[in-house]
Amino acid sequence: MKKSIYILLFGIMIVLVACNDNVNEDEAAENEEDNTEEIATDEAEDENKTEEEDEKEQQATEENDNSTEVEENVEEEVAQDIAEPLYELDDNWNLVPLEEGTNEKVLLLTIDDAPDKYALEMAQTLNELEVPAIFFVNGHYLQTDEEKDELRDIHEMGFAIGNHTYNHQQLSVVDEETQKQEILELNDLIEKIIGDQPHFFRAPHGDNTDYAKSLVKEEGMLLMNWTYGYDYFEPYMDEEKLKEAMISGEAPEIDISYSLLNPGANLLMHDREWTAAALEDIVKGLREKGYEFADPMTLQLPE
Ligand SMILES: [Zn+2]
Repeated sequence: MKKSIYILLFGIMIVLVACNDNVNEDEAAENEEDNTEEIATDEAEDENKTEEEDEKEQQATEENDNSTEVEENVEEEVAQDIAEPLYELDDNWNLVPLEEGTNEKVLLLTIDDAPDKYALEMAQTLNELEVPAIFFVNGHYLQTDEEKDELRDIHEMGFAIGNHTYNHQQLSVVDEETQKQEILELNDLIEKIIGDQPHFFRAPHGDNTDYAKSLVKEEGMLLMNWTYGYDYFEPYMDEEKLKEAMISGEAPEIDISYSLLNPGANLLMHDREWTAAALEDIVKGLREKGYEFADPMTLQLPE
């Protein structure tokens, strides 16, 4: 009699293990919870404990489901995003075609310090004009649900997202551990929001350290400064003056009396009121001069 009960129980166990893929995971999750609870709720009554366990188990299951979804999304988006490389950056941050026959009269548009007040509006303007761009974002602008939604919207419109450090920290004045946090914690935050790690990095003030350069490369991101941009110089914090300067490439009021507008120029703009106001005319003016805007995803990334 006893023997047959053992055989029956053994049989049931085998069936359970074989049929339920999640058994091991669930057991592992339960064990973890048990350990946590031993520390946290020694004095809790048994009844409460059971309810808590049920709730936690549910949460754990939901979390597992979510993480699976995120992983699937990441795979899909990587497949969508990365295009055949057409351009590389030269030592002065210009775009240069990898092969003859590729249009060299292109410009790269980049928007830094996003998403503060105007990034979403700027993305909508560029989207209507069908101009690709990189939005370099900061972690301190990605704290509220509204800010996170803005990043999601910008990304879903098809714009590339770049890392501009978590706190807009000037890298050369802090130790390596801080630089690492500034870069990697923002990568994690961006991935949590859009399901993908950024492919581009730009240091605040263009101030790169050897340590940051190698870390960024290890992370598979392309590091860049820019070739020209004027919206952060006092005389050009004005819609009309900024338009003229960006389209001509010249900024005489800060002693740039020659044009920096060349094939492959890497244009820096910011999430600012006057830049948002001037953006449409800047794009149109540069197009009238025969320039096209390069898709950042055609830039060659580090291996
Ligand atoms: Zn900045």
